Amino acid sequence: MLDLADNYASLERYNIQPAKSSVTVFHMSNKAQNHLDCWTLGSNPLPVSQTFTHLGLTRFSMEVKDGAITEKVKLARRTAYALMGTGLHGRNGLPAAVSLKIYKSYVLPRLLYGLEAMNLDSKQLRELDQYHIRFLRQIQSLPDRTARCGVFILLGTVPMEALYHLAILSLLGRIFRANNVFITELAIRQTSVHDTNSKSWFIKAAKTLQHYGLPPIHSLAENPPTKDQWRNTCKRAVFSFWKEELTNQAVNKSTLINLSLDVNIGTPHPLWQDVNAALFDIKKAIVKAKLVTKTYTLQINKHKFNKYRVDPRCPLCGRDVETLNHFLLHCSSLHREREYNLAKISEYINRVSDTSTWIYIREDDFRAVRFIIDCSNFSDTIPALKKVHVLQHLEHLSRNLCYDLHTRRAAILSVCSRDVQVMSRDVQVMSRT
Ligand SMILES: [Zn+2]
Repeated sequence: MLDLADNYASLERYNIQPAKSSVTVFHMSNKAQNHLDCWTLGSNPLPVSQTFTHLGLTRFSMEVKDGAITEKVKLARRTAYALMGTGLHGRNGLPAAVSLKIYKSYVLPRLLYGLEAMNLDSKQLRELDQYHIRFLRQIQSLPDRTARCGVFILLGTVPMEALYHLAILSLLGRIFRANNVFITELAIRQTSVHDTNSKSWFIKAAKTLQHYGLPPIHSLAENPPTKDQWRNTCKRAVFSFWKEELTNQAVNKSTLINLSLDVNIGTPHPLWQDVNAALFDIKKAIVKAKLVTKTYTLQINKHKFNKYRVDPRCPLCGRDVETLNHFLLHCSSLHREREYNLAKISEYINRVSDTSTWIYIREDDFRAVRFIIDCSNFSDTIPALKKVHVLQHLEHLSRNLCYDLHTRRAAILSVCSRDVQVMSRDVQVMSRT
């Protein structure tokens, strides 16, 4: 190949710049690896480099192939960091739904640029996904232990694997719409001749089509769909697959028992809808998001990690174990805040539905907690909740309830910890005297 290039340059009477030419090896058999240093262009030996940049895309040799992903993640991290001034940092920043839009518009395109042309393996996809999920947790101010599927369901988005597949399908559509006979024949020949273990890009694309139940390559080559048709078809297929996948994963998570699994990919959960950019509103939504994903730390959670030293009883009233039910429905120290907010919720429920609805919700603790945590759980049983504005208003009221309980609890605990500090200081002074 190098000789051909050199001969052609000689015939056309131009010189290939030797200082700017180098060889980067992507695939090579074990036998050929012994000849790595023997590349020549005419009589000039060519250096072997690990990386080169073409059309803005940096390609890496087979020895440092993971470097491409690491560089991409670094680039995405730098982009996100540059956007921090706009409030893209979770707590004290913008609401998660707005942050997600900014992330999709500015960070994801830079992260995924050019990757659709590469045949990524599972390790490389995992590295990309780790960055993706960490970012989505950060903009919701959720801790690292939050269940993955819960993070995606709350924001109504999909994992990195789905985004990578969408990029591959989009490129495939562009290839067939270009009506290039040579490439179309190449695609059909490769998918007909190669087996499924091949590293051919078209085999990867064919497997992606099969994975989402889309038409095979030869059918697309015969009748290439229009740009809009293909984009909508791919989105529908990929989103419906991941909707089912995320729902199945969430069913098995004990921490997501109170989260409604009526997943709608492309639309954030009601919790993140209708959240104003005001700091106060965002704090309320963050507390609610932690309660929904069971990452809000109560005394029972601390006790699970240290059974001998931590008392599971409620530090506020000391009467019962501090579980989610106790915190939301029974703790006597939070009675005033709870009754004030529950009265508002019951009044609104009685206005939009019949009076038996609130009685039905309150007669069972499990049901009441599920309603407070995520009222969209009852969209099927309470017809009034099918209306979006009713659901959003109830979400707003329950968010207020959770936040008032949280702030009152934090205030009592801070007073208690201050008293304990004063007492321990007095004891130290007495022991010295
Ligand atoms: Zn209590």
